[in-house]
Amino acid sequence: MEKEKQMIRAAAEKTAQRMVQPVAAKIDADEELPRHLVEAFGKQGFLSLLIPDAYGGTDGDLTSFCIVIEEIAKVSGSSSLLILAQGMGTLPILLGGSPSQKDLYFTEISEKYSLTAFALNESEGESEAALIKTRAEKQESDYLINGRKCFITHGSLPTFYSVFAVANPKHGPEGISAFVVEEGTPGLLLEKREKKVGMRGSVTMDLIFENCRIPQENRLGEEGKGWKMAMDALNISRPAIGAQAVGIAQGALDFAIHYAKERIQFGKPISSFQAIQFMIADMATRVEAARALVYKAAAQIDAKLKDTEKLSALSKYFASEMAMKVTTDAVQILGGYGYMKDYPVERMMRDAKVTQVYEGANQNQRWRVAQQLLRK
Ligand SMILES: Cc1cc2nc3c(=O)[nH]c(=O)nc-3n(C[C@H](O)[C@H](O)[C@H](O)COP(=O)(O)OP(=O)(O)OC[C@H]3O[C@@H](n4cnc5c(N)ncnc54)[C@H](O)[C@@H]3O)c2cc1C
Repeated sequence: MEKEKQMIRAAAEKTAQRMVQPVAAKIDADEELPRHLVEAFGKQGFLSLLIPDAYGGTDGDLTSFCIVIEEIAKVSGSSSLLILAQGMGTLPILLGGSPSQKDLYFTEISEKYSLTAFALNESEGESEAALIKTRAEKQESDYLINGRKCFITHGSLPTFYSVFAVANPKHGPEGISAFVVEEGTPGLLLEKREKKVGMRGSVTMDLIFENCRIPQENRLGEEGKGWKMAMDALNISRPAIGAQAVGIAQGALDFAIHYAKERIQFGKPISSFQAIQFMIADMATRVEAARALVYKAAAQIDAKLKDTEKLSALSKYFASEMAMKVTTDAVQILGGYGYMKDYPVERMMRDAKVTQVYEGANQNQRWRVAQQLLRK
């Protein structure tokens, strides 16, 4: 691994262990990330990882993004989701924004540690362009946005949102455009803070647009390019969900090993029983296999290779299934204590679950992989 990546991993690991791990259980219990942690992530450059240095960003590639997310996820899924969702909100601007939009929004993030969000999903689903109902009606030099986005990570916290809406309903996916909507714009409302199973420190809310008027300068790229932008952003970020899943699983495995060496049954540490040893070996094998897939997918995207969609989807699919299995096995190794909130593995199991679901549930990823394989 190149030196720069090793330094990023070391910095992320240090932040995770010193700043995040001590408050990880509290973040889950309080359903809130302390503001000082958000600022610490900002100072470390973790909120601007994908932003070029020309705009004051960290200038990281996808591999660096995955490394930071993996290290933070080892101790707190919710904290890693803050960094992940920030990258997601940044991507449409990176992919479609003009130099002046990048200057405006990226400088805001780099200098003020402002948060952003990616608002695609609606109650009828994100996987089909035809189901996007949020309208952006062109009115002279403005757009009037009406509609509702649901389950948006960061909820009320961002300074601006990357929003996908239909500008021309007759044109299917080519009728969708991307826009930046700033916090406080009249007609932008936030509702329904979700109560979640896991990732409880991450805010998830609905965004409602009621005659929300934005200037056409807030459109990202050309009209009709929004769906492609959203799909490209998801293709880039899926290995990062995989990295999050790898981190959560590694955290659970490390804790299970530590516990197995301490827990005495039948006069011996449970780690001396072959049944436990085989579980640990299987968990470690799965984690390593997923990690290899995730970083292979990230490296291919960083190298700008063609046809990365299959590897991106299967890395997210495999890593998230793995994380669910490994965290459940970690709970099993802790026995009854694993089910109690006194230990972190039940939180890790709850956090792992959503990696199978968000950014396109895994059935959808398998479909995506099969489409790529069968089209040849
Ligand atoms: C905590 C959390 C945070 C989120 N954050 C964001 C965010 O910041 N921005 C955003 O835009 N969205 C966000 N989402 C939305 C998320 O991306 C969607 O929930 C996810 O893509 C699944 O879509 P859905 O909920 O509509 O499920 P559905 O698509 O309705 O899926 C329901 C079930 O049907 C299956 N299914 C669907 N289609 C097929 C098919 N063709 N074949 C077989 N099975 C199928 C699915 O696999 C799943 O098991 C978030 C969701 C959660 C839970």
